[in-house]
Amino acid sequence: MIISGKELSAKLKAEMAEQVATFPAKYGRVPHLTVVLVGDDPASVSYVTGKAKASEVVGIRNTTIRRPADISEEELLGLIRDLNADDTVDGILVQLPLPGHISEPKVIEAISRDKDVDGFHPLNVAALWQKQPCILPCTPKGIIRMLKTAGVEIRGKRAVVIGRSNIVGLPVAKLLLDENATVTVAHSKTADLPSVTRQADILVVAIGRPRFVTADMVSEGAAVIDVGVNRDPVTGKLCGDVDFAAVEPKASVITPVPGGVGPMTICCLMENTIECFLKKMER
Ligand code: NAP
Repeated sequence: MIISGKELSAKLKAEMAEQVATFPAKYGRVPHLTVVLVGDDPASVSYVTGKAKASEVVGIRNTTIRRPADISEEELLGLIRDLNADDTVDGILVQLPLPGHISEPKVIEAISRDKDVDGFHPLNVAALWQKQPCILPCTPKGIIRMLKTAGVEIRGKRAVVIGRSNIVGLPVAKLLLDENATVTVAHSKTADLPSVTRQADILVVAIGRPRFVTADMVSEGAAVIDVGVNRDPVTGKLCGDVDFAAVEPKASVITPVPGGVGPMTICCLMENTIECFLKKMER
């Protein structure tokens, strides 16, 4: 079974749109997401455009602020401070990656925790690891939602996550652990990776290498979640970290690229923006 993130996110966004339509009467306005785009990297421009389109579908206000790639770190931090202080802004997202002269950790830390719709702020990350209330990072949240919607039992299962980045691998591993899976995190130094991945009932792949996971690395009946977004070196088309054609016949469920985790990430961003808005309104 192919888990379509595109279909699931369309359904969830339609439900959110109904909810958001009730907000003007209740709260006097709709949630407001502000996205800051530094430079004009084509992948970043496309992600930011996707976020604006999703906002339109859900009915939330979206402002995209564009700044040139040579903006100074101080200027960018100043912009974030202004957005933090702006009561009409509910969510702030700075599109990553940033140019090399700007410290990403400093920028992430500068965003008010209450407006951190990406869930990357150190206080949100700490809260996640301490099982405290927090804003969940969008991609990991979307992955758990897809597994649950597909009816995949997580509790008691062996999950292997390939990748240990702060934005995908580690938080996915933590959320799977919270769902009572037994979790192994693999990475570039893992010895004999196929023998590790073949143990997985649930395999989450977040590496960034086209079609890295081959059929021999996957056990029969595994649930396979492909987070990777790559360009096929030959065709230039989008592809995942998993060799979809080879792995799909073995997997019980699998996510495609494109149309899998990507749309769910944006969907969860919409959810997080609504969550931040409601928290503020109900305070
Ligand atoms: P990242 O920060 O570059 O991390 C990559 C991870 O993969 C690292 O932990 C690295 O191990 C591991 N790795 C690299 N080569 C490996 C190998 N040969 N064997 C085993 N592990 C290996 O990347 P990321 O930000 O997590 O993103 C991963 C992928 O997901 C990218 O394609 C990215 O574009 C995509 N992504 C998609 C979404 C979405 O919404 N669909 C969101 C975020 C990211 P070490 O730690 O040992 O270096």
